[in-house]
Formats: sequence, C-alpha cells, structure tokens
Amino acid sequence: MVTMEIVQQIKQLQKEKNASILAHYYARPEVQDIADYIGDSLELSRKAGETKADIIVFCGVHFMAETAAVISPTKKVLIPVEGAGCSLAESITSEQLTQWKEVNPQGIIVCYVNTSADVKACSDICCTSANALQIVESLPADKKILFVPDNNLGAWVQMKTGREIELWPGNCCVHERITAEMVIARSEEYPDADILIHPECKCSSDLQVANMPNVFIYSTSGILKHATESPKKQFVIGTEIEALYQIGKKNPSKEIIPIAKTMICGQMKKIHLEDVLEALEKEQYEVTIPAAIRAKAWSPIRKMLEMI
Ligand code: SF4
Repeated sequence: MVTMEIVQQIKQLQKEKNASILAHYYARPEVQDIADYIGDSLELSRKAGETKADIIVFCGVHFMAETAAVISPTKKVLIPVEGAGCSLAESITSEQLTQWKEVNPQGIIVCYVNTSADVKACSDICCTSANALQIVESLPADKKILFVPDNNLGAWVQMKTGREIELWPGNCCVHERITAEMVIARSEEYPDADILIHPECKCSSDLQVANMPNVFIYSTSGILKHATESPKKQFVIGTEIEALYQIGKKNPSKEIIPIAKTMICGQMKKIHLEDVLEALEKEQYEVTIPAAIRAKAWSPIRKMLEMI
C-alpha cells in the first residue's frame, strides 16, 4: 500500500473510532505528520488528560503510553508496537525504590517521567525535563532527595538548584553520548550558532559547557521555542535527531544542525505508519495498568501537574 492510502485509511479509522494520535518529537517524521498532537513528555501528558477522544494511539515508547493510561483511565490507550521500550526507564525497578524508602523513610523520591507506572507508584513526585528545576526547588530544604533514574538530568538539577541530591545511576543511551568535547568542537565550527542541549545529555552539568555564553539547556519543547523565537539564524541541536524535524519545519529560513547525526533512538523509530494503521484496525496493543498501581502512580503525576 502506498503512503497516501495508508494515511487516508488512518484518518478514516480515526474519525470512525474517535481516536487521537499523540506522537513524541523523536517519532519518525511521517508518523509525526499524521499526529493530532506532537510534543515532549510533559506536553503529551497534558494532551492525554485533555483529549475528548475515546482512543489514544501513542506513538512513542511504552512508559509514555503507560503515563497516558494513568492520566486517562477511561480511555483506551494503544501503543502500535508493543516492544518499543526505553533504556532509561528500564534502569530502575519498584523493588529498588521500596528498599531505598525503607532505609530513608523521610526521604523524597523524585521520579523523572521516563519511568514505568510501577516506579511512579513508589515515588513521591514526578517531573519532566521541562519542570525538574521547579519541582526540586519546591521541596523542603531539610529533606533528603533521591532523583531517579537519569543521573545526567539529576546532576544538572543539582548544579542549578544547589540542592544535595542522591542520583540513580541510570541514563539514556542516546543523550549519554553527547559530551562536552562535542559541544566545544561544534561551538568552534559554528561560532555564530546557539547550541541547544537537552539536560539528559552527559555534558549538561559540565562546568565548561555551563559557562559557554552560546550554550542553552532546555527540554525538547524549550529547544524548539528558543530556536523559533531567537533572531539568530544558526542552531546546533543536542538531542535525539528527529527533534530537528519540527524545529526545521517551524523555522524554514534557519540553519538547524545536529550535534551528531548518530543521535538516534532505535526504540522511538519502531513505530511505522503501517503499525499505526494496524493499531487502529485491531485496537492493539492496549496498555492497561492495574487499578491499585494506577491510583498510586497517579499521585506523583497529579502533584507535578498541579504545581506547574
Ligand atoms: S531517547 Fe533515550 S530516554 Fe528517550 S526513549 Fe530513547 S532511550 Fe529512552
């Protein structure tokens, strides 16, 4: 079947079934093109809560669809490829958090949204890369904080807030490869460019990078906003490669340069248009969360959403 036919069938089924397609900025461009909403984790979480659709087709990885299912328990949430996972989310289990809580009963667990529903259910408050600073700053100063599971984002939050934070040794296999050396080399190559870096990157808490006047650290939506609103004409982007698609679309007169073309998340590329069509036809693969876990996982997400 040619792409146009697949797209038409997707649109038809969407209408018939009152389905909404949510796609992450790292999804394949052709999948982003058929989505009703494109966003980062925070934006998509909000959309999942707001949509009037009966079905949400989540084009991202499994923890994102789980988050949508926690936020919207009355909707049918589908992920078109069941095995689309995340190395970061898989770096921690709920049992490990329960053990930490036993040793630190007064401690506060801040969980990045890139975690399973089980892990969220054992956490005190959730955050995304867009609001992690705000969330940590809001916590009582005398409490011990454990930040899970991304140690690069956690180290950046620690540097920016001055709070002492215990960091979980997890990371994203893509952003972990974006180093200070790469940022410095790109800055020399493009001296007029702003360099926009995601805080999951290994270099986000590097002091030399932090002191470079042309380097800015943002969530993916923040990177898009900066590139769109800045009068500058050249931007080097330090995050997953597909984020450049929307930045380029919204800024056709600007030069958008990847920090490296190899920053690709294979998991985020697992969903093709054919999978979206099949997901709508067969209403597969439904993501369900047991009620008890859902109630507990909702609490840290709700706290985050109420705060921002
Ligand atoms: S880019 Fe990193 S954090 Fe995002 S889904 Fe892929 S492995 Fe997970």
